Amino acid sequence: MRLPEFDFYEPPTLQEALPLLTSGNARIIAGGTDLIVALKRRLETPAVILSLHKIKELDYIVQDEGYLKIGAMTTLKKIKTSPTVNRLFPALAQAAREVASPILQGQATIGGNLCLNTRCRYYNQSEFWRQSQQTCYKAGGEKCLVTHKQDCSASFSGDMAPILLAWEADITIAAPEGTKQMSLREFFTYNSKIPNQLAANPKGILTEVRIPLEKKEWSSLYTKARLRGSIDFPLAGAGLAVDLDPSGRLCRGAAIVATGVGPGPLVLEAAGDLVGQEITGELIKSVAQKAAAEIHPVRTGRIGPRYQRARFKTLVIDGLTNLAELED
Ligand SMILES: Cc1cc2nc3c(=O)[nH]c(=O)nc-3n(C[C@H](O)[C@H](O)[C@H](O)COP(=O)(O)OP(=O)(O)OC[C@H]3O[C@@H](n4cnc5c(N)ncnc54)[C@H](O)[C@@H]3O)c2cc1C
Repeated sequence: MRLPEFDFYEPPTLQEALPLLTSGNARIIAGGTDLIVALKRRLETPAVILSLHKIKELDYIVQDEGYLKIGAMTTLKKIKTSPTVNRLFPALAQAAREVASPILQGQATIGGNLCLNTRCRYYNQSEFWRQSQQTCYKAGGEKCLVTHKQDCSASFSGDMAPILLAWEADITIAAPEGTKQMSLREFFTYNSKIPNQLAANPKGILTEVRIPLEKKEWSSLYTKARLRGSIDFPLAGAGLAVDLDPSGRLCRGAAIVATGVGPGPLVLEAAGDLVGQEITGELIKSVAQKAAAEIHPVRTGRIGPRYQRARFKTLVIDGLTNLAELED
């Protein structure tokens, strides 16, 4: 499959990159592991591609001012092998290991992962395949081909967002008009057509992810179910984090975040039931049941929503049991 035609820019600094965003229909490319596929399938036909590849100032992992700061162009390979990340936030290294395959992790970036578009079996297909169907709502048609409603139900399938949301990480966005900080919870829109604030207004570059260092004290993990163990998007994924008192039983804080089961990563209220409680197997089961009731997957992939919900529930049970170091 050939790429469509576009003008290509590869500026060496962020300062030189920002003005290029204002030039009409421009798209950013980082590792390109998702965008190149979208271009070849003609899901995107931008006039301008702005590569961040040469902007070395966006590639770093540092501890500073009470945060672990990660530049948007840092690859997932660098994150999963970083001694700093593995010491402070091993669950982040673990999430990076869960993305795609080792070869793709060497190219894929954390910024690109957070800015990932939503996916659907009717949308993420070649142009040739899509011509055999009606145009789906995400591609500009009248109705979603999954739900037959005037809405899009494509699913967000990023693996890095859940654990970062569980830790209440924030991001920095640089735009021609200035730089702003935003919580990751505010960044995601839970809207399949415009999954994040930058998709809504593409005239900005995600430059940095910041994780508050105090969250390193929490017990955390990212857990994922997928069809093919070697390489696959999540059919369900859960970012889990609990703050346990020194006895290891009393829960002082908790977060459960879902991915792969809706139009965005979802911070679930069920986690609130753990707070102030002694964690037991019974409590975990009731929290997992409630968490599974909060997600609303639809059949956007090969697996049906009932199975996704059931798998999500077992991910939460197994994950929390593991974190609380309870016997199965
Ligand atoms: C076979 C295959 C399997 C995959 N499996 C998984 C998986 O299991 N889990 C998973 O999470 N992903 C998966 N992916 C998707 C993808 O590889 C990863 O999400 C990857 O992290 C995307 O990062 P990238 O740097 O390659 O992004 P790119 O492809 O360069 O960009 C992705 C999107 O983000 C935007 N973007 C990138 N960087 C920025 C920035 N700094 N500021 C603003 N916008 C930006 C781009 O414009 C584009 O819309 C898979 C992809 C393939 C091809």
